[in-house]
Amino acid sequence: MNILDELSQNIAPSYARFPVAIARGRGSLLYDIDGKEYIDLGSGIAVNAFGACDEEWIKAVTAQLGQIAHTSNLYYSLPQARLARLLCARTHFKKVFFSNSGAEANECAIKAARKYSADKYGEGRSRIVTLKNSFHGRTITTLSATGQDGFHKHFGPFTEGFAYAEANNYEDTASKLSDDCAALMIELIQGEGGINVLEKDYVANLAKMCKEKDILFIIDEVQTGNGRTGKLFCYEHYGIEPDIVTTAKGLGGGLPIGCTLFNEKTAEVLAPGTHGSTFGGNPICAAGAISIIERLTDELFAEVNKKSEYLKTTLSALKNVTQVAGMGLMLGIKTAKDPKEVANECIKKGVLVLTAKDKVRLLPALNIPFDVLKKGVAILSEVIEQ
Ligand SMILES: *Cc1c(COP(=O)(O)O)cnc(C)c1O
Repeated sequence: MNILDELSQNIAPSYARFPVAIARGRGSLLYDIDGKEYIDLGSGIAVNAFGACDEEWIKAVTAQLGQIAHTSNLYYSLPQARLARLLCARTHFKKVFFSNSGAEANECAIKAARKYSADKYGEGRSRIVTLKNSFHGRTITTLSATGQDGFHKHFGPFTEGFAYAEANNYEDTASKLSDDCAALMIELIQGEGGINVLEKDYVANLAKMCKEKDILFIIDEVQTGNGRTGKLFCYEHYGIEPDIVTTAKGLGGGLPIGCTLFNEKTAEVLAPGTHGSTFGGNPICAAGAISIIERLTDELFAEVNKKSEYLKTTLSALKNVTQVAGMGLMLGIKTAKDPKEVANECIKKGVLVLTAKDKVRLLPALNIPFDVLKKGVAILSEVIEQ
């Protein structure tokens, strides 16, 4: 039997996987089970913020392993408290709820928004507006929140109370923000939806309208957060202060952690007993996340932006490329070729890239060395121009 068939023998067939089995890695170089080297331009879908086996992260995680791995949320937790303090100190947020994934962070935001509205205005003001082509997760409720028909199959009945507006269409979005709405939840760059960047005016106008109507403005930064776009959070590019922000992916540097951030207005909504998670904010994951957040400095963001400029300039000059969209190290390349075909050809030549709808998607580690990036881009360019 082929080794990849063997590896998938007892795994539920829910993933259309690329024909690669990664065994180990160092930084932005990965090695498969046969020892073949790959330049990693996807970082495990924006998770390995500082690449594979990052030394400082290993130190932080192993130090915590030697203290305590798990305590349950029945007791106070040092790593959780430190991580929450770090996040709040660097933003306008006041309180944090920790979970284990992006979908859970969004579930928490949805619950909190509905409770905020019910506490203040009573039942019946629970609708949440999201955008068409969005992606918010795979639980039944976050599938409902996801504004793509393809995700509203197989698993019904779905959670009620969502409406979908057209991204970058203010009239349409405003018209959906009716009096029965509790919240508007959006990604500022639609990730899975194809690296679609929302326009500044559109977002600013929505922020204003939400504030006037006391509709909570929730930003899903599961993918865009934690330095990915050249700032700690992408909303900082937009000059807005959301009521709730969710994040996950890069936060744990490779370990599963999700987080929902609450501003002054929403800080007290999740009263004792209203929400919880056994593993949420686990000490090991929190310790890993602290080592990530502490190193998301202005110096690093300058590096991220320099690499971003390099990628945009180099890739948009290529034959067959019609658009390079995105911010920081979250970029989507539209080419004449099928993105999956590009990804598969890159794999053969030792480079891992992602796709998102009609684009080739790049989410390299924030600290990818310039020479490694250049080598990867040279191979990607060759494949695109062929
Ligand atoms: C990946 C992603 C999610 C889901 O995160 P999981 O950790 O897979 O549950 C939600 N929202 C956005 C924007 C994402 O990119």
